[in-house]
Amino acid sequence: MGSESLVHVLLVSFPGQGHVNPLLRLGKRLASKGLLVTFTTPDSIGKQMKKASNLTDEPTPVGDGFIRFEFFEDGWDEDEPRRQDLDQYLPQLELVGKELIPRMIQKNAEQNRPVSCLINNPFIPWVSDVADSLGLPSAMLWVQSCACFAAYYHYYHGLVPFPDEKNPEIDVQLPCMPLLKYDEVPSFLHPTTPYPFLRRAILGQYRNLDKPFCILMDTFQELEHDIIEYMSRISPIKTVGPLFKNPKAPSSTVRGDFMKADDCIEWLDTKPASSVVYISFGSVVYLKQEQVDEIAHGLLNSGVSFLWVMKPPHKDAGLELLVLPDGFLEKVGDNGRVVQWSPQEKVLAHPSVACFVTHCGWNSTMESLTSGMPVVAFPQWGDQVTDAVYLVDVFKTGIRMCRGEAENRIIPREEIEKCLLEATSGPKAAEMKQNALKWKKAAEEAVAEGGSSDRNIQAFVDEVRRRSV
Ligand code: UDP
Repeated sequence: MGSESLVHVLLVSFPGQGHVNPLLRLGKRLASKGLLVTFTTPDSIGKQMKKASNLTDEPTPVGDGFIRFEFFEDGWDEDEPRRQDLDQYLPQLELVGKELIPRMIQKNAEQNRPVSCLINNPFIPWVSDVADSLGLPSAMLWVQSCACFAAYYHYYHGLVPFPDEKNPEIDVQLPCMPLLKYDEVPSFLHPTTPYPFLRRAILGQYRNLDKPFCILMDTFQELEHDIIEYMSRISPIKTVGPLFKNPKAPSSTVRGDFMKADDCIEWLDTKPASSVVYISFGSVVYLKQEQVDEIAHGLLNSGVSFLWVMKPPHKDAGLELLVLPDGFLEKVGDNGRVVQWSPQEKVLAHPSVACFVTHCGWNSTMESLTSGMPVVAFPQWGDQVTDAVYLVDVFKTGIRMCRGEAENRIIPREEIEKCLLEATSGPKAAEMKQNALKWKKAAEEAVAEGGSSDRNIQAFVDEVRRRSV
């Protein structure tokens, strides 16, 4: 069957790696269930995606359906420094998007591809307004945990006390969740956060939450059972994760990386099973030079093999390039590799990798669980501090490098060495691996035919089809 006769959904993504990856994975999942999916995001990122993953404009078959890409200009030059300031960029994107997305939909209709539903991710709640104005249904993909969704929800509606100026150190008890210490609440909600613009961007979604008919979540029923049950009574949630695992399109070439990954798989192939520590802080966090020095010495002192992602700073961020201590690479020799960007999905699936030192971004968290990979939780900010609580205390696949945000302090080399050794050898390491493998199995079952996430995706696709006639 050609792509023209399929029900067509338009996915609109905020241009950030942690937003693009899960939405694109959702797109592939929907396509594999027989929909035509168009994925769109600003051209600034679209160009990089095309370069990094050889994307073409043609519909690419995925399972029973197709995925295609259309990128749009957001009206600002690529090197416009205001892009880095969400308070300025989000209104610009809304202004342009509200004009261009309807035009894109109109053009698709003229080309016999009428759009039946819009799906967006956080930071761009106006997409539901566009859908409303065209009489189309809309859905939202939440790209963090259900626990964080619940935390933001309770904060937004003032349902339980959160730390504030008067009581900055009160702990927060949300229903069906473990007690969060004041510094384990998503840190953008904290009164002292230096990133209030991120709080505004995230909470922006909540003002429009009555519009999407469904809130899709990249998590799965078995993983966050209690809080999912609880929030499902309040919001139209459907868990569809881990989106990272797609049984129908396991080796799709359609990927959402902006950065061309360095080749490190061949090097991993030369290493013994479960011997390498993988270290990555995701796409946004940029460590301080002092912290890099401490990690480097911690690695040297522990003697563990490692693969470490040290990405260069964004060109407009005005940050100094991080450097490794003098003679570090010579001392390490073949025992370690430092790369600028890794093919993380492949790395986490590699048998030589023993554990993942992670900033606990939700994508990395889900990827670690789905790969059966134990972690050392090294959260820096935002939802990462809450994800770390779950990884260590609830999922029991990790140990803590620190509690709360590590962004404003330096974790010393001794602590790093201790955690690396604890996570790679000894009884704790074995226990974490057992738990991680249990979650891997649960994740595979959730996305397999008839599993909880598969049933939810199918129900969503059926609903979109029903609404499109
Ligand atoms: N990632 C990658 N290679 C790297 C570092 C990160 O492919 O070297 C991917 C990773 O697999 C994940 C995303 O970038 O899908 C980072 O998302 P996450 O939510 O973990 O963190 P964020 O970047 O949003 O802080």
